[in-house]
This record gives sequence, structure tokens and C-alpha cells, in this order.
Amino acid sequence: MKKFVIGVDVGGTEVKFGLFADTLLEKWSIPTNTKNMGTEILPEIADSIEKVCRKRGIDATSIIGVGIGVPGPVTDSRHVQGCVNLGWGDKDVAGELAICLENSFSCESQRFLVRAANDANAAALGELWQGGGRQSKSLVMVTLGTGIGGGIVVDGKIFDGAWGSAGEIGHICCVDEADIISTCSCGNRGCLEQIASATGIAAYAKVCLEKKTMDSVLRELVRETGHLDAKDVLDAGKAGDLLADEIVEKAAFYLGRGIAAVCAVMNPERILIGGGVAGAGEYLRAKVEKYFRQQAFHTMKDTPIRLGELGNQAGITGAAYRILSEMLL
Ligand SMILES: [Zn+2]
Repeated sequence: MKKFVIGVDVGGTEVKFGLFADTLLEKWSIPTNTKNMGTEILPEIADSIEKVCRKRGIDATSIIGVGIGVPGPVTDSRHVQGCVNLGWGDKDVAGELAICLENSFSCESQRFLVRAANDANAAALGELWQGGGRQSKSLVMVTLGTGIGGGIVVDGKIFDGAWGSAGEIGHICCVDEADIISTCSCGNRGCLEQIASATGIAAYAKVCLEKKTMDSVLRELVRETGHLDAKDVLDAGKAGDLLADEIVEKAAFYLGRGIAAVCAVMNPERILIGGGVAGAGEYLRAKVEKYFRQQAFHTMKDTPIRLGELGNQAGITGAAYRILSEMLL
């Protein structure tokens, strides 16, 4: 009988799903219902899985398990210690989802295998299975979005750390005093994400426009629209705007420094860069690589730095692989 695995990726606005056999058979999403402190999220996930399975004639016994990535620190592949975006405090995500699935599938006796993971870690695992990390055993994935997240995979397994907080690469304090423009959301000063996340790049660009007199399309853009985001800066830099390019160089310099620090500790086979900011592609990757090589310890200077390949599908892929990898052991 054919067996299936389901990968779930819970975000602040959308829950993504993937139904996998050997490959991805179907993907879909539902809005994240954050009402009532997020109490509806897991029941709605279970209902949605049941609906799709029923449509395809898949019964509960054909499902090997469900992996779920959540935006918070996860321990024992079960408990999350608070997901601010979802309204969750400490929660046994895997245990509760297993019960919700039993309710939705109306099968009291069926024990669903459910495993939870931090979403950035799940994305790293997904890239290891089917993306830019294929044929490697260990990698670190740096996700450049509103903040900077990190996922660590060692010997094919997610490395969570003692309190589920391994891979908080965005909060490595590595920015020189001269380039610090404010205090980080975590309360520290000089965190990597203050200058190299989407938010950081936009904030640093605004300061540069005030400080410098040089012509730039960014200046015109702010004058016309009153708005500037990281994509504007990256697009302008790519198109040859000198000031924008300078700002991207600065972000890349610190990304290179942060990644060199990670490599000094983990010595991974590969580094992958993903997330919205990495949409700038080779333009950004090449700069990060240049500054990484300058700052990395000599034995690790040749660590490949690549772009993630799965985009926003990395999370569901890794969540599914979390279940499969347990079967393979
Ligand atoms: Zn911080």
C-alpha cells in the first residue's frame, strides 16, 4: 500500500501544507487563524489535512506521519516555547496536533506520528533533502527575511541546541560601532540582523541617504513615494546605483563576518542563503562569498556558499523529511 507523509509550515499569516510520497504530490495553504490566542490553528490544520486526504482517498493508516515547522524554539521535536506571532505560549505542538488529527480522522485508535521543528531548521532540512544541500550531511542555512534566521543540520539531523535556540544567527553581535544605527529587537546592540535583514538593509539605507550627498535613484524614490524597502535597495544596486551598491556591500560584509563565525564553530559542509532578501540572487551571494573568504578561518575559506533552491517550499519539504528521516534510521 502506498504511504504518505505530510509537511506543514506554520507562518504568521499562512499555513502551508505539502503531501509527499517520494516527491511532492500536492501543496496547498490556509490562512493562519490567530484569533483566541491561536487555539484554532492546530484543529484547522488537522481538518485541512483530513479534507485533502479524503479527496484523494487516503485513509489514516496510509499516513506515516505529519511534520510541522513552527516559528519558535522547539525542544524534543515536540514542545515549542512560545510563538509570539501565533499567540502561543509553551505548547506541546506535536502531542496536541496528534490528538486533533485523531479527532478529524475520527480514528481514536490511530496514533499519528507527529514531529515538530523550528521553521528555520525545517527549511534547512528541506534543502538538505531536495534542494541546495543535496549530497551533503551537514549544512547551515541562513534565512534573510524581516529578521535573520538560521537552521543547522548535522549528520542529516536538525541541531536544536539545549533550549531549542540554536541557529539564532541574526543575533550574533558582529556589527562595528560606527555602523550601528539603533538597538536590536532583542535588546542588544550590533546584531547581524540590524544591518543585513530586509528591515536592517532598509533602515541602514535611510541613514545613508541622510548622511551622504551622492546622487541615487533611492533618493528620488523616497522623494516620490516616501517609502524605501530592501528590495528597492537590492534592485537599484544590481542596476548599478553606486549608493545602493555600497549599502548592499555593507550588508554582505557583515553577513560574511557572521557566517565566518558560524563556520568557526560548526564547520559545515555548505552554507545556504535563503529567504526573501536572497531573491537578489547571484548579485548578493557573490558579495557575501567575497567577504566570507576574507574573514573565515583559513581551513574553511572554501566552504561553498550557495543559494537555497526550494524557496518557500523548503519548510514543508523539511517538515516532511523530519518524519521520513526517522523512518530511515
Ligand atoms: Zn538582536
